Amino acid sequence: MTSATKTRAACLIGWPAAHSRSPLIHHYWLRTLGIEGGYVIEAVPPDDFRDFVLRLSLRGFVGANVTIPHKERALALSKPDARAKAVGAANTLWFKDGELCSTNTDVEGFINNLDAGAPGWDQATDALVLGAGGAARAVLFGLLERGIKQVHLVNRTIERARALADQFGASVQPATWDKAGELLPRAGLLVNTTSLGMHGQPPLEIDVSLLPDNAVVADLVYVPLKTELLSAAQARGLKTADGLGMLLHQAVRGFELWFGQRPQVTAELRALVEADLKHA
Ligand code: NAP
Repeated sequence: MTSATKTRAACLIGWPAAHSRSPLIHHYWLRTLGIEGGYVIEAVPPDDFRDFVLRLSLRGFVGANVTIPHKERALALSKPDARAKAVGAANTLWFKDGELCSTNTDVEGFINNLDAGAPGWDQATDALVLGAGGAARAVLFGLLERGIKQVHLVNRTIERARALADQFGASVQPATWDKAGELLPRAGLLVNTTSLGMHGQPPLEIDVSLLPDNAVVADLVYVPLKTELLSAAQARGLKTADGLGMLLHQAVRGFELWFGQRPQVTAELRALVEADLKHA
């Protein structure tokens, strides 16, 4: 493990310490905002996670991002906000009055990316969300918090969609994959939260020609950067929001909590991360 320096530092805790874009993103903001600080990756095995988190401050860290497989335990070891509780997982830790707090920034990453790329998206009354995994929870929480009235939740394993509908209430209606064709014509917003369409995964077979003319399409997948879903939506002239935008926007809050300044998601930052993804 690396050790924190005396400057303000945050870390990403994961196991194994997978290649992550978070250091690139936070170092860019530290550099461009002229803040003396650090962001390092800490490979922490599950058996050591509790001790690591309980001694986070003693190790010199002002906070942390948490990734696989620690996100659920991070929630249990901290004081979670409503977003982290609803998602059932925490990805960002920070200290407030000495207490370790947590949130899940995928919610605002998703919503702020839509606001940036497709302003007015929240005029949609009906949304169609594909997938019912961890990312779908963040998306559902964000959509309902923003006032979307009806969300149709389509998933291969219908039990998972039903479980989320039970948790989020009557605004979320579970549906089987074969119903997607019927739901598309009234979906003002279509969101792919499955891993379909990602490199190495099967394609996402969805006919965007069935969507209304003013529909907005969001895809959480960011490898490739432009998924077939987004290409098809753009070819139809629909507004889109991509997965890389969500990834960048979700990093904003942690940085602000740890280093005291709210950073911007700039075209320069995006280009930097795009280049890194291309070389991965
Ligand atoms: P997860 O919890 O494993 O859920 C995966 C979802 O994809 C489930 O709904 C699963 O359906 C569905 N799925 C997988 N393979 C499928 C197939 N062959 N046919 C139909 N459905 C299939 O994963 P997650 O954490 O929610 O992440 C999902 C995607 O979002 C990933 O691509 C991830 O990289 C991306 N993501 C992006 C961001 C970002 O910032 N851009 C943030 C979070 C996640 P079943 O329930 O039937 O298995």
